[in-house]
Amino acid sequence: MDTYSLLTQDLGEGRVKRQEGLARYTTFKIGGPAEFFYVAQSVEELTKAFLAAKKAGIKFWLLGGGTNTLISDSGLPGLVVKNETRGIKIVRQLGQVKNGKSAVRQALVEADTGALINQLVRFTCDQGFSGLEMHLGLPGTVGGALFMNSKWTHPTAYVGDVLYQAKILTPEGTIKLVNKDYFNFGYDQSILQKTRETVVAAIFLLNKADPEKLWVRAHESMEYRKQTQPMGIQTAGCTFRNIAPAQALRIGTPNQTTSAGYLIDATGLKGAIHGKAHFSDQHANFIINQGGATARDVKWLIDEAKARVQEKFKVTIEPEIVLLGKFN
Ligand SMILES: Cc1cc2nc3c(=O)[nH]c(=O)nc-3n(C[C@H](O)[C@H](O)[C@H](O)COP(=O)(O)OP(=O)(O)OC[C@H]3O[C@@H](n4cnc5c(N)ncnc54)[C@H](O)[C@@H]3O)c2cc1C
Repeated sequence: MDTYSLLTQDLGEGRVKRQEGLARYTTFKIGGPAEFFYVAQSVEELTKAFLAAKKAGIKFWLLGGGTNTLISDSGLPGLVVKNETRGIKIVRQLGQVKNGKSAVRQALVEADTGALINQLVRFTCDQGFSGLEMHLGLPGTVGGALFMNSKWTHPTAYVGDVLYQAKILTPEGTIKLVNKDYFNFGYDQSILQKTRETVVAAIFLLNKADPEKLWVRAHESMEYRKQTQPMGIQTAGCTFRNIAPAQALRIGTPNQTTSAGYLIDATGLKGAIHGKAHFSDQHANFIINQGGATARDVKWLIDEAKARVQEKFKVTIEPEIVLLGKFN
């Protein structure tokens, strides 16, 4: 039986597409086709797809919102799964009974990893649970946010801060429950970047709070985002990770800024164009697809920025965006 028939047998007639262009599934709007493509709408479907790829002996790729991803122009061989598992629920409320009245103080909220961060933030604000409200406006899914430990910087808060446990697929397709420590979270870091495991659900431990205050906080983040980031454009957000504070001290950046955008700006690349891709004039760490940019155009700007920053400051900057596929 050929690979397509094998996948169809496991995933259902009409559910697997061939040579599906991936650009539309990313915010960069860049990328070649997936050899095979499937949308998972439940954790069961996500697990089935993972096992079907294994059985067919092909590579398994997982896409969340595609907001932090640059896919190669030649596309991706194997099965690309778009994670649209959107479930969110309160699994437990924690508190005490005082004078016959129960006072909820915390809750465990479980989200499928295909749930959008914005959907989760809105749910937790409405329910009056604090810990994620500052992430309103963060594009992408819960899974993508765990992969990169996505953050808000005013003041700094990471999505991983309030993670309690997560459900990860084992190579056999069973689910293992792991604690937050397993992820080894850091700035733009999680263990998933090494293991490439698939997380199917995340359980967050959140504190009871006044919904009105949470919405005020969420709104403030959104407003700050609108003032500082270019909006309504084709981008994957910040291209590079910021540098370590010790490196900023060594270089002597103004106010000890660790901003990769500052370094890129200082090399004269702010606003630089290659093909149809360019470094934003507003935020030097954002690369924008002006329409019709290729992954090669973007990769050229990435390589150029790395080389210039290395030459000028003797510092290596590393991409935050995830490059998928071949780039040679
Ligand atoms: C306009 C704009 C603003 C942004 N602002 C911010 C910001 O303020 N802070 C910030 O930190 N980031 C920001 N980003 C970057 C991006 O939104 C985040 O990194 C986001 O969390 C990525 O989620 P995603 O679902 O889109 O991931 P994707 O791009 O779909 O995937 C990224 C990586 O995560 C992996 N992955 C996805 N789901 C899972 C899963 N379930 N299990 C295991 N691995 C998985 C993928 O395989 C891939 O390797 C911004 C991006 C844009 C376009």
